[in-house]
Amino acid sequence: MTARRRNCDVVIVGGGPVGGLLACLLARGGLDVALAERGAADSGYGDARGYALAAGTVRLLDDVGYWQPLAPEAEPILAVHVSREGGFGSVVMDAASQGVSALGQVVPAARIGAMLAEALAATGVERLDQTRLETLEAAGDGRREVVLAGPDGRHRLAARLVVAADGTGSATRAAAGIEVRRRRYAADALVFDVRSTRPHGGRAFERFTPEGPLALLPQPGGRLNVVWVAPPETCDERIALSDSERIAALQARFGWRLGRLRTAGPAARFPLELVRARRMYDQRLVLAGNAAHGLHPVAGQGLNLSLRDVAILAGRVLSARDPGAPEVLAAYAQARSGDIDRVAAVTDLLARGLPVGERFAPRALRRGMLLLDRIGPLRQLWAEQAMGLQPLPRRILRGLPAESREGGTAPTATERRGEGI
Ligand SMILES: Cc1cc2nc3c(=O)[nH]c(=O)nc-3n(C[C@H](O)[C@H](O)[C@H](O)COP(=O)(O)OP(=O)(O)OC[C@H]3O[C@@H](n4cnc5c(N)ncnc54)[C@H](O)[C@@H]3O)c2cc1C
Repeated sequence: MTARRRNCDVVIVGGGPVGGLLACLLARGGLDVALAERGAADSGYGDARGYALAAGTVRLLDDVGYWQPLAPEAEPILAVHVSREGGFGSVVMDAASQGVSALGQVVPAARIGAMLAEALAATGVERLDQTRLETLEAAGDGRREVVLAGPDGRHRLAARLVVAADGTGSATRAAAGIEVRRRRYAADALVFDVRSTRPHGGRAFERFTPEGPLALLPQPGGRLNVVWVAPPETCDERIALSDSERIAALQARFGWRLGRLRTAGPAARFPLELVRARRMYDQRLVLAGNAAHGLHPVAGQGLNLSLRDVAILAGRVLSARDPGAPEVLAAYAQARSGDIDRVAAVTDLLARGLPVGERFAPRALRRGMLLLDRIGPLRQLWAEQAMGLQPLPRRILRGLPAESREGGTAPTATERRGEGI
């Protein structure tokens, strides 16, 4: 069968939260965008995870008009309760002490997928579902050609920029010859929802146990999302248990501070690894989100970090004449490297149970860290994003077309630059 061939501005491979959001922003900015996702259109709707989104991420989504549809199904995090099994008790960081109304929000991953599916349909992105990357051609004539295989045959798209947003195992990254540093943690995460007889009151719990961290994130409707990290063989045993046996094992580990726990959804399992691409870009190709950096979920930072990639990349691309120009991609890579290095280093040390060095904490936290080696960095990661200290790309976002809440049409990138593409 002959492949359909066409030119476009940007091809994004991977329709997870990163690919989906980036596609919406670039299309709203006036670019011709195609998005290829190997799963079916609704494949993300069964995702059991609840994403803890830092306040800075909520602001980012709000700035571009995508927070309001999520807000009704979000639960504000009013406090983070950190403890260490067999340790010193617990420490609480609350929103009030940070001078904010909430430290972040927990949103079901499935809800983010559904919201982005609607937004993609509204922005005119060409969506190719059940479609995978087959090959990537060398760049030439200011374009890079991507061959995609889907249910209706092959598509040959010649794009000025290809974005690899296809997760930690990125085939697009591999096809571009970009190597990764990869370390598999000797741990997997089991994720499922529970209910508790005592209200969670907006508290998130992070408990460091000898087998790995255990987190309970507050969700709407009195539910909590459990992220239970343990060695793979322990996860084998726990996933084979009945729901009630699994909850009894969880209760023994977590304790009774929320009263009796009851199951509220099926368990899913995620292998955990640290992945870092050695380069962020190639000729007319760039990495974003998990394709560039996969993290341990201990501090709930992966998507927060990834959405900062999206904001910076969208800002750079939309303000450039040529979205795939080397200087545009180099500037993005440079702008992202410090944030990625730091967050990856802190989460890795937390995941491995190693003391985190003072260099990651501001002076005000150092004294506490001498005692609470794992709490200081967690506190810092959450607090700085809650208070907006993270160099969040607000000023770049200001350059993005705001989604018109009154139904008007946002100016295209071409109009804003006053030129033809
Ligand atoms: C247990 C767990 C809990 C987490 N909790 C949090 C949290 O609370 N807060 C937080 O900030 N982060 C959290 N994260 C991290 C978060 O899940 C990731 O950062 C986020 O999924 C990254 O999004 P992405 O779009 O880059 O990648 P992904 O979500 O992996 O999406 C990649 C997409 O690409 C598609 N794809 C893959 N290969 C191809 C191909 N060859 N062709 C076409 N499509 C392809 C996939 O089907 C998928 O849809 C958690 C992670 C785990 C494992």
